[in-house]
Amino acid sequence: MFTIAILTGNGHTVTVTAQSADELKTDLTWVSENAPQIIAATKSLEAHTGASVNAPAAAAAPVGPAPACTHGTMRLVQGGISKAGKPYGAFYGCTSQDRESQCQSVYV
Ligand SMILES: [Zn+2]
Repeated sequence: MFTIAILTGNGHTVTVTAQSADELKTDLTWVSENAPQIIAATKSLEAHTGASVNAPAAAAAPVGPAPACTHGTMRLVQGGISKAGKPYGAFYGCTSQDRESQCQSVYV
C-alpha cells in the first residue's frame, strides 16, 4: 500500500493511494497531467461550501471505532479528488491486497 500526500500551490493536499508501485506511478502521472483541474476543483468546492477543503484532520476524524470486515479492521482513507476530478469524503476501505475480494467501502 502506497499513500502520498501532494501539496498543491494553493495550500491544499491531494492524497494519492495506490496498491502497487506501478499503480502509484500511473496515479502520479494522472495527477501531474490534471493539476490545474484538481486545483480548480478544490477552489470550486470551497466556493460552494464556504468550508476549507483542508479542514483540520481532527474535525474530519470519525467518531467511534473503525469498522471491520472479514479481512480485519478497515483502514481510514482521507478524502481527496477522484480520477474524474470530483472531491470525495473520507471512507473506510478494505485492507485486502486482492482487489477482486475487497469489501465495499464504508463512508464516514
Ligand atoms: Zn474486507
